Amino acid sequence: MNADDSTGARRGGPSHRELREMLGPLVLGALPAPEEVALRAHLDGCAACRADLEELAPLAGDLLLVDPDRTPGPVAPPRELGVRIAAAVGAESVLRERRDRRETRRGRLRTVLVPVAAAAAAAVVTAIAVLPADPPPAAPSVAFEQLPLRPVDPAVSADTATVVPHTWGVEVRLVASGFDAGATYRGVVRTRDGRLLPAGEFLGTGAKAVTCNMQAAVLRTDAVDFTVVDAEGRTVLDLALPPKAVPRG
Ligand SMILES: [Zn+2]
Repeated sequence: MNADDSTGARRGGPSHRELREMLGPLVLGALPAPEEVALRAHLDGCAACRADLEELAPLAGDLLLVDPDRTPGPVAPPRELGVRIAAAVGAESVLRERRDRRETRRGRLRTVLVPVAAAAAAAVVTAIAVLPADPPPAAPSVAFEQLPLRPVDPAVSADTATVVPHTWGVEVRLVASGFDAGATYRGVVRTRDGRLLPAGEFLGTGAKAVTCNMQAAVLRTDAVDFTVVDAEGRTVLDLALPPKAVPRG
């Protein structure tokens, strides 16, 4: 079975991150038709994005409060562009803060999660401050790694993960199938000094592939391992994060 078939993240189409960033504009009705078609198709196969959309829909009013007309700078950006970027970044920020609150309620690693929320808030400010520059800001170029996923549970099938080193932490993008439908799975990143940090949660979708962006508040260089564990704490999927080669120059 080809995992990509049910995710909509086909070669040449928008990346999963780009699709996720469309959720805010979709909720605000600010998404052009072709992108909406692509996003709707992706939502059919992606439980994570559907969950995000469900959380975002009631927040549309909050997102509209991010007013691009009040951005600093000499030239006001086109309003539609401002709404779209503010919505995308604001949506990401709102979702992350809500996730953080959920995690905090469970009393887990509050101090680790706070910098993530702070980074998200800073990202909103940065994106809006950058808007008056002529073109929309390009995605920063970062060194992605493709690393092999190792299923520990024989029911799980997965190929490679994309690992993205951010300034605020590390992101693991994976596509895998065979997780028990409806069961909760957690991502965990182990650090060089032996700490286990949360990297988000998702619901299993059975034979259907699940596409996940898991994020933890630890730098790539300090992370040594990423695992997916089930509700009983058993490891079902493993990803070694070997020391990175330092680029020359
Ligand atoms: Zn998705």
